[in-house]
Amino acid sequence: MKQRTEIATLGEFGLISHLTDALEIKNKSTLVGIGDDAAVLDYAEKQILVSTDLLLEGVHFDLTYVPLAHLGYKSAVVNFSDIYAMNGTPKQITVSIGLSKRFCVEDLEEFYAGLKQACTAYGVDIIGGDTSSSLTGLTISITCIGEADKDKIVYRSGANDTDLVCVSGDLGAAYMGLQLLEREKQVFRGEKDFTPDFSGKEYLLERQLKPEARKDIIEALAAEGILPTSMMDISDGLSSEMLHLCKKGNVGCRIYEERIPIDYQTALMAEQFNMSLTTAAMNGGEDYELLFTVPLVQHDKVSAIKGIKVIGHIAKPELGAYLIARDGTEVPMVAQGWNQLSE
Ligand code: ADP
Ligand code: MG
Repeated sequence: MKQRTEIATLGEFGLISHLTDALEIKNKSTLVGIGDDAAVLDYAEKQILVSTDLLLEGVHFDLTYVPLAHLGYKSAVVNFSDIYAMNGTPKQITVSIGLSKRFCVEDLEEFYAGLKQACTAYGVDIIGGDTSSSLTGLTISITCIGEADKDKIVYRSGANDTDLVCVSGDLGAAYMGLQLLEREKQVFRGEKDFTPDFSGKEYLLERQLKPEARKDIIEALAAEGILPTSMMDISDGLSSEMLHLCKKGNVGCRIYEERIPIDYQTALMAEQFNMSLTTAAMNGGEDYELLFTVPLVQHDKVSAIKGIKVIGHIAKPELGAYLIARDGTEVPMVAQGWNQLSE
C-alpha cells in the first residue's frame, strides 16, 4: 500500500519547497527562479515565445489509467512542443496546480518526478507556479517560455503555392493508444487493480501516455539549413491542422493518403477495432508531430532527413484542401477534431 501523507501536514509553503527545493537552474536566461514574488529572466537580443495550456481532470486526462508521473511528463512536453512548433527552444516553465483533498504529498511527488524528468530531458527550468486547494479533482496549468532568433521564428501563416507539405514521425498511434486504454477501462470497470495486458501494444501506449516533442526534427532542419515557410504541431489531427495552415496562409493543398506515415501497431489496432486507419491518422489527436511546409527546391534535402516525410504539396487557394485517396479520388478535408471522433 502506498504511503499517504496529507498535504495539510506540510502546508502550502512546505509543499512547494518539498517539491521544488532540489531544482537546479540550467539556463543562462533564468536569473531568478522560484522563491521571490516573480521570476527574473534575461533574454538579451532573443525574441521570447510564450505558450500556455490548461489541463482539467476528467476533461483532458483520466487518472484511472494515467499514472501521475506520466501526466507530469506529458503536461510539460506538450508545452515544449508548442515552442518547437514556432522553431524556438523551450527554456522555462511555470507550473500551477489546483488540488482537492483526494491528493496527497506522494501523488504530487510522483507528478513532479515526471515533470522534472521532462525538464531535464529538454533542458528547461521550472521557475515558479502557484498552488491552491480546489473543490474537485486536479487542475494543471503550465506556461512555457522559450527563445528564438528574430529571423528564424516560423508562423502558421507562411505557406506558398507549390511548397511541399512535410510531417515528422507517424500519425494516429496516440489516438489508438487512447482507444486501447478506454476499452480496457470499460472491461476492468469496478475491479480494484487496473493491470490489463498490453503486450505488443507498447508503442501505442507510449505515444498516448509519454509523448515526446520533436526537438530532434527542429535541430535536423537547422543543421540542413532548412527554414520551413510555415509550421505547427499536430495536437488535433492532421486534417484540422492542415486546414489551419491553409487558412492562415490563404492557400489550398493536396495530401496523398498513401504517403501518410503510419506505424504497424497503429494499423493492426485499427483493424482489430474495425476502424478506418486513414480516419485515425487524419483525425486522431495528440501525436505532437510537426507539420510544416518547405519550398519545392528543398525536396531532396528535406526527404533525406530521417523521420521526415513529404506527404503532399500546397496549392492555390481556389483549388481547396483535398486528400487524394489511394484510388485517386479527391476527398475534401474537413476539420474533425479527435474529441468529436470518440463520440
Ligand atoms: P505568492 O503568494 O506570491 O503567489 P507563493 O507562496 O504561491 O507566492 O509561491 C512562492 C514561490 O513558489 C513563488 O516563487 C512561486 O512561483 C513558487 N511556486 C508556487 N507554487 C509552485 C508550484 N506548484 N510549482 C513550482 N513553483 C511554485
Ligand atoms: Mg501563489
